Amino acid sequence: MQWGSFVGNDRAKAQLAAAVDGRRLPHALLIEGPRGSGKRTLAMHFAAAAVCTEADRPCGRCAQCLKAATGHPDITVVQGDGSAKSMSVHLIRELREQAAVVPNEASHKVFVFADADCMNVQAQNALLKILEEPPSYMLFVLTVQSRTQLLPTVQSRCVSVSLLGVSEQEALTVLRERFPEAEEDDLLKRIRLFSGCIGAAADSMADDEFGKTIERIRAVSEAIVASDELALLRATAPLEKDKMLTEAVLGGVRLVLRDALTSAAGGKTLVSVAPEAAVALSSKLTQKQLVASLAQVDELIASKKRNMNQTLLITLLCARLRAATGR
Ligand SMILES: [Zn+2]
Repeated sequence: MQWGSFVGNDRAKAQLAAAVDGRRLPHALLIEGPRGSGKRTLAMHFAAAAVCTEADRPCGRCAQCLKAATGHPDITVVQGDGSAKSMSVHLIRELREQAAVVPNEASHKVFVFADADCMNVQAQNALLKILEEPPSYMLFVLTVQSRTQLLPTVQSRCVSVSLLGVSEQEALTVLRERFPEAEEDDLLKRIRLFSGCIGAAADSMADDEFGKTIERIRAVSEAIVASDELALLRATAPLEKDKMLTEAVLGGVRLVLRDALTSAAGGKTLVSVAPEAAVALSSKLTQKQLVASLAQVDELIASKKRNMNQTLLITLLCARLRAATGR
């Protein structure tokens, strides 16, 4: 199970491998990255390295590594589900008591908080109490899409590692193996839509809603140049209650706008899921308007990462796209 089995993100892997090899395991590790970028996989890799008994850790073969893969008594995973309830202050206090008990069989005890973005201030403050003076055997791993969701005091206690999507080729190699029946073109579209995040692209293969996502990307892209000023509001209405759909649509529209610029420059290689909408945009908007629209979408993607209010985000998306396209 060496670090090499985790695809891409060489810098993050090198950083963790160096800490493990040098026996300088950070007491608190923060893994930040977009949805489906492998945060939890890397967290479990690190947890296995912490309990592994071989020299080359994680070896993937020793009894501790095998248990780490299926359920290790000294590795506890708490999975957030987006609600503050899933990582409540009560749960953190309970874990704090458990942390005071020495490991069952390994040299370390690891608590993984996956998708810790939903931990509220109260819960984070409870966590902070043990991050400040952890027992020597205790290790904590927090995975988040955006570290801005964590208190600065929590962040400052953690060693941070950032993950990004991997290259098209790296992602394609993994997905081809996992979905041998799928068409390469289809896989590539998904990889690009999810910016090389293998987990998100793979999830979309099992998601019946994926067709609806593409439909929404197309509808919003087309509405950008509609003469009816309510068209964009109507096209974005389904996003209001769906954060995941919003994320995918913002990323998808961004690619459509980039395709439109490519098309305006005479390029033929379009990579978005709605190339015909991109061609239409390129014929109706100037290059300057396309660049301005792209900049607005980029800015809103960044705001979304900082957890901007969903209703405000959709309102701004409509208003700014109208303004950028002179409508
Ligand atoms: Zn091992």
